[in-house]
Amino acid sequence: MYNVGKVYMIEKHVEQLLGEALLPIYEKVITNNRLSFDDGVLLYNSHNLTGVGYLANIVRERMHESRTYFVRNQHINYTNICNKFCKFCSFYAKKGGPTPYEMSLEKIKSVVEQYLHHPITEIHIVGGVNPRLDYSYYLDMLKIVKELRPDVHIKAFTAVEITEIARVGKVTIEQALRDLIESGLDSLPGGGIEVLSDRVHQELFEKKIGGDEWLEVARVAAKLGLKQYATMLYGHIETVEERVEHLIKLRELQDETGHFLCMTPLSFHPQKTELEHIPGQSGYNDLRNIAVSRLMLDNFPHIKSFWIMNTPEITQLSLWYGADDADGLVQDYEITYKEGEFGNKKQYLTYDNMRKMILEASRTPVERDSLYKEIMRESPTASAQAPQKISL
Ligand code: SF4
Repeated sequence: MYNVGKVYMIEKHVEQLLGEALLPIYEKVITNNRLSFDDGVLLYNSHNLTGVGYLANIVRERMHESRTYFVRNQHINYTNICNKFCKFCSFYAKKGGPTPYEMSLEKIKSVVEQYLHHPITEIHIVGGVNPRLDYSYYLDMLKIVKELRPDVHIKAFTAVEITEIARVGKVTIEQALRDLIESGLDSLPGGGIEVLSDRVHQELFEKKIGGDEWLEVARVAAKLGLKQYATMLYGHIETVEERVEHLIKLRELQDETGHFLCMTPLSFHPQKTELEHIPGQSGYNDLRNIAVSRLMLDNFPHIKSFWIMNTPEITQLSLWYGADDADGLVQDYEITYKEGEFGNKKQYLTYDNMRKMILEASRTPVERDSLYKEIMRESPTASAQAPQKISL
């Protein structure tokens, strides 16, 4: 593209790739202008996914060049007992579904000890809303993790859990967060609202907190200096317009607080949920949600492709559609149902396979901590290691 005064000469191949419909968005992207609600809807409705991905990749490379981040993390899902009964959820214990469990503090200690020999830098803790757990359980859980691994970053509790913790402790959200921070909490994973839409809330998860409460938890977290992640669950009953509204609400909140580090679009998996009649998501939609998130969330530093939900293969492609983060090695994740694996849902990548996954996509792997600081290790550098076929 040539900039002659205020006149932009667009190269022929770019014009052909984008077509007439996407060219106005191209102009906004290359001049760093914010996209509108209508732009977001157009990006979702465009048949030209390659063009949408091309636009997202411009932003991705402007912000991160070829760098692709990942973290060495462990997940702890401390209970699957939950009184919210969300229709899209396959995780909570129910008849014909997973057997109920609730980890004792001793059990938490043992699952942390299990990986003490791994150089994990982040422990990600979320669970169901289990009314049998008392306030001290949550605080003690964090203290135990920090006692065993003082250097690890604890990312824990969605806004739904934070609200429950405050309720059982009979304290305000702010006081609950202060107590959790004192016990070891470092950041919030940010899930729990799925899509910021009253209609979707009413239809799919009415027992859970609504958008206003979710936003309040985020604002209090920002005030207390916590960093936070954000998500969007797509592919259930939400409309394209509701997705775009969700992204714009997150963007506005980020303008206000600046405390979000990353956005993760999460692909809805209908198996073993009350919405099994809805077809699962395609790679096509997964890539589009990554790309549109990158383009709409101009104030979010990072966009993540969560390989557990998107598959490692789509995650490789997503690195050219706006994603700059492939999440982590992920030990012991329990939330998403995988066919035939109830009771044995070990899903993880080795360090080498994560690097291979990124290298094979011709991107540069960068191990990061939870705040996106690069971690240097003695292993070979990204450029020194030749790409190999992944065997997962
Ligand atoms: Fe409970 Fe969370 Fe599942 Fe809803 S999504 S039922 S709050 S575990």
